[in-house]
Amino acid sequence: MRAVQLTAWKHAPEVREVPQPDPGPGQVLLRVAGAGMCHSDLHLIHDFEAGMMPFEPPFTLGHENSGWVHAIGAGVTGIDVGQPVAVYGPNGCRSCRRCLQGKVNYCERQAELTSMAAGLGDDGGMAEYMLVANPGHLIPLGDLDPVAAAPLTDAGLTPYHAIKRSLDLLIPGSTAVVIGVGGLGYMGVQILKALAPATVIAVDMRESALAMASAAGADHVVVSDDSAAATIQDLTRGRGAELVLDFVGSDATLQLAVASSRQLGHITMVGIAGGSYPFSFFTVPYEASIASTYWGSLSELVEVLELAERGQIHADVERVAIDDAPAAYERLANGEISGRAVVVPT
Ligand code: NAD
Ligand code: ZN
Repeated sequence: MRAVQLTAWKHAPEVREVPQPDPGPGQVLLRVAGAGMCHSDLHLIHDFEAGMMPFEPPFTLGHENSGWVHAIGAGVTGIDVGQPVAVYGPNGCRSCRRCLQGKVNYCERQAELTSMAAGLGDDGGMAEYMLVANPGHLIPLGDLDPVAAAPLTDAGLTPYHAIKRSLDLLIPGSTAVVIGVGGLGYMGVQILKALAPATVIAVDMRESALAMASAAGADHVVVSDDSAAATIQDLTRGRGAELVLDFVGSDATLQLAVASSRQLGHITMVGIAGGSYPFSFFTVPYEASIASTYWGSLSELVEVLELAERGQIHADVERVAIDDAPAAYERLANGEISGRAVVVPT
């Protein structure tokens, strides 16, 4: 079968012919419906080198996956061949307190894991078939289009988790700012509108991204430039925002995030551009907190899929053939993808 693989650190992904896997005991083989193309793949490809991760290339990319159950290994029950499913991504040890609570993204034994997820160490979904090592991470899809469901497992789940932890701040009269309206930010705007009565301000450098934010329900859109923080202060009548979600994570966006936030607010960094901000008594509003978040929990993915099934959120999908994936990664790096590119193998 064909697969989009990272063959070496700092090398562009390649389409290669690889063996179709067989599901061993306790495993499931999916025929892939869709594998979302995440900006994290670009960080993975370009920012890492040998020895920095507990795994090495080659492996198949794609950590945002959906498909149909194709074959079932010995001992797996409760799932049928042909069933459409979404794949919960993060790997965990399966036995620590966090894993047992479904908060696998924060597994207590993360340091011992040899792969972060399928597509992040293990072979992922950018192939015709994909092996799932833990069938407990498969969530049956009701009436959702399996291709459109793929991005919900990361571009949907990650903002959902980041927003849910701050929901009690988002009362009537509050403001939430979304910096970076790409794959994750576009879902973030919709999730905010679905869950909270807050005013939503979306910030991006691309006019096309701001247009998508407006279509997704953002109350205001702001161009990301030197005056963005002042504009946000004006829009909030000088109060600042209760929640600022930074889906970029550069020095510049973190600075904007802090300058846009309010005392007692949450500044949540989801983007992994590697930026930093000098935290001191004088640089951050009183009792504002800065946190990073990683992916989301299994139960939160169930909730995300429920929101999508009710039509309250949706991914804006551009379908990409396996052979076109390397070029699509280049377009993602150049800011030329709107919404989410999803590799659709067949
Ligand atoms: P994307 O490329 O689809 O979107 C990024 C958006 O940010 C684009 O619209 C771009 O125009 C905008 N942007 C870039 N610089 C900006 C600036 N200075 N000001 C305002 N907007 C700016 O990327 P994505 O797939 O949505 O991922 C976003 C980030 O989240 C990436 O860093 C990715 O690695 C990270 N991510 C983190 C997690 C996690 O668990 N923490 C999960 C998935 C992705
Ligand atoms: Zn664990």
